[in-house]
Amino acid sequence: MEGNVSVICATIGTYQDHIRHRSLKEAKGKLCHAELGKQHKKSIYEMVEYCENVTKCRRKILVEHFGEIYDASACQSSITPCSICENIVELKKKYQLYDITADARIIINGIRAINNPLISYVAELYRGVLTKKNQEKANKANHINLPFFGLGNSLNEADAVRLLRKLVIDGYLDESIVAGSHGNHYGVISPSQKGILFANQDDTAGKALFGSNLNVQKVYIHFSTDKRKSSAGSASNVQFSMTSATKATETDALKDKYRFKHKDIFERCKTKLVQFCTAQAREENFSNYTVCLFFQIQL
Ligand SMILES: [Zn+2]
Repeated sequence: MEGNVSVICATIGTYQDHIRHRSLKEAKGKLCHAELGKQHKKSIYEMVEYCENVTKCRRKILVEHFGEIYDASACQSSITPCSICENIVELKKKYQLYDITADARIIINGIRAINNPLISYVAELYRGVLTKKNQEKANKANHINLPFFGLGNSLNEADAVRLLRKLVIDGYLDESIVAGSHGNHYGVISPSQKGILFANQDDTAGKALFGSNLNVQKVYIHFSTDKRKSSAGSASNVQFSMTSATKATETDALKDKYRFKHKDIFERCKTKLVQFCTAQAREENFSNYTVCLFFQIQL
């Protein structure tokens, strides 16, 4: 099974390959049902995600794709570990997980002001490091005054690009394939409906009660510690000079993932908890159930 997907991944070895693959599929599929097109796109993005992944056991991704549960420690202890598990100790030192939700929102809103940008151009703006050609364009169009300009100034180019690709893969940005004048194809990005909703959600009310809004999904990404402006040698010491990214643990990311995957269970638990606290508040003659909620949490 891994072999088959490896073959597919060999054909989509780079992000640019996926653009070529999509342009072919979309050209062939013009008469296809729209839903079928969506499925094709989803499966291509799943492959891209598999290839872009830097820390997750490849066997685990494959097995879980088919609905099974797999413990990555089995891969790590096997005599033929996957390419991630083979170097897991080094990779854990090299990458740190960050909650990048706040930056993602600012980027998505900022992209709305740019007409059909390439990922590479937005990544340059995010880092505040522009090539000569793009510098002129950014000055002229006033893109250097966009709120996300320079926010990612402590990231290297690869990580900034990977963040934008992740926003595409996760459906916050749409990427349309455009034919160039020399028969080449490239992708231009714009916020999706999901992205616009996500970028403009007000989570202050939820934060006050639960630490975060239960309806707002967070964006997590691993950033490497290589070639940073910071002189830190290990992931734990990396400082972001401007981004609002905060270090997160794998547990934070998993909790957030399952909060959405099993949304119904979380909603039912929340309802039960509010019911319980309301009853307690009435018994104690408290004016508001939230007093009980805080009291319970502190206990
Ligand atoms: Zn593995």
